[in-house]
Amino acid sequence: MRFDIATLFPEMLENYLSQSVIGRARARGLFECECHNIRDYTTDKHRRVDDTPYSERQGMLMQCEPIYRCWQGICNMTRSQPHVIYMSPQGKTLTQKRCIELSKMPHIMLLCGHYEGVDQRILDMIVDEEISVGDYVLTGGELPALIVVDSVVRMLDGVLSQPDGYEDESHYSGLLEYPQYTRPEIWRDEKVPEILLSGHRANILKWRHEQALRNTAKKRPEMLENYPLTDEDLAIITNEIGKFDNKK
Ligand code: SAH
Repeated sequence: MRFDIATLFPEMLENYLSQSVIGRARARGLFECECHNIRDYTTDKHRRVDDTPYSERQGMLMQCEPIYRCWQGICNMTRSQPHVIYMSPQGKTLTQKRCIELSKMPHIMLLCGHYEGVDQRILDMIVDEEISVGDYVLTGGELPALIVVDSVVRMLDGVLSQPDGYEDESHYSGLLEYPQYTRPEIWRDEKVPEILLSGHRANILKWRHEQALRNTAKKRPEMLENYPLTDEDLAIITNEIGKFDNKK
């Protein structure tokens, strides 16, 4: 899988992309990611990439041509047409489900806006999809682009030390994760739940599922509306939060 990120601030991204889990996966060639400085594609003699909006709004807007030439450069260099995502507060909010779908795409280009955003005409011409990381506005698309790369890459083969380790985690199954504990067994008089010390695998799996249900019922009850609950599940939830009706 390959990412190409178009940005005015490639250094902001490079540091994150070369460290920890993501950095190791990249160094091992489990995915490719190249950051492109949109300014390198300007034809303006002052290397300008933005200008004031026509709408009499304050601030600066990124211009079409440098972004277009950056996109062309990426298409020519890779001999492929990437799926182009514009990071935008107007996009659909990113979910684990969309991350799974994106992880199956061979080539994605992420366009990071900055300042007041980007001239609409380039978006109409090259963008396939807009993705938001939440209903708030940031100064640029760089953090959102890193969020997309990180959340997608950690599901690629070989990236996490446990194969399919991500499947147990919050959101993948439609539930939040159960609570986790590590050594020491007793920390300031607080004990690890007895059942986890029992070594009884079937009981531990049952406990994990119960705890995940309870955790979700407590913290994000609306997630349960889309989860296929058994009668046993319903009993656990009702116990946790009182009456629960998932048959809307
Ligand atoms: N004027 C725009 C916001 C511009 S913010 C509007 O009101 O819609 C500057 C840039 O930051 C955007 O071009 C986008 O790339 C990025 N950005 C800001 N908030 C974001 C969010 N919630 N999700 C993804 N990208 C975001």
